[in-house]
Amino acid sequence: MPLPFKPGPDPAVNLTEITKRIHQSARACNRDSGDISLIAVTKRQPLQKIHSLLHAGHRVFGENRLQEAQDKWPALREQAPGLELHMIGALQTNKVREALRLFDVLHTVDRPKLARKLAEEMASSGRSVKLFVQVNTGEEPQKSGIAPDDVDRFIAMCRADYQLPLVGLMCLPPMGEEPALHFALLREMAARNDLTQLSMGMSGDFEKAIAFGATHVRVGSSLMGERTQTPHDPSG
Ligand SMILES: *Cc1c(COP(=O)(O)O)cnc(C)c1O
Repeated sequence: MPLPFKPGPDPAVNLTEITKRIHQSARACNRDSGDISLIAVTKRQPLQKIHSLLHAGHRVFGENRLQEAQDKWPALREQAPGLELHMIGALQTNKVREALRLFDVLHTVDRPKLARKLAEEMASSGRSVKLFVQVNTGEEPQKSGIAPDDVDRFIAMCRADYQLPLVGLMCLPPMGEEPALHFALLREMAARNDLTQLSMGMSGDFEKAIAFGATHVRVGSSLMGERTQTPHDPSG
């Protein structure tokens, strides 16, 4: 494993380094790096750093809060055509309509009520976005996500009852635990449910996630440095 990457002040320079590491990790396990998408997680980062990535040609971004994303991204979309925006944080059912308007991919489908609401709003808006089911692989009570034992049933319900366009699974392994076991579990659950996409791996473990089949790595602080703190954000 290479040394942990220490980000410099310029996100565009970090982007080059992380892209290189993604290529290396892919090659090491005989994967095509074109199958791996780098989601730049821009929550609580200054606009200037986002501009730096846009200027470098990056177009795939992730946010974890709808309100914050709505404050930034509609204007940026006009300046940077071809954006692909990913919602990676918890989604309230009463915000589904707005989330569908802004985002292209949602990573946090995690309960039947949300699945039903997504189906209703997609039908009424005519807009369909790609969906990941979030799995609580560590069965942590404070974390959202479907419990591993319930995943197959939940996916079957999303398909049969709501015809949801599911593409993959997403996980956030417990802090301080070896993530490989969680990545392996997620891969196995996706394979047996005919889902091809895996959203897993963050700043500290994206290379390992690629070895376990990640198709979407979500990298924030290694690209853009430490985030500004807000007191009530559970995601750190
Ligand atoms: C913040 C966040 C990330 C990025 O974390 P880093 O460690 O800064 O790379 C990835 N996934 C989710 C769901 C997040 O909330």
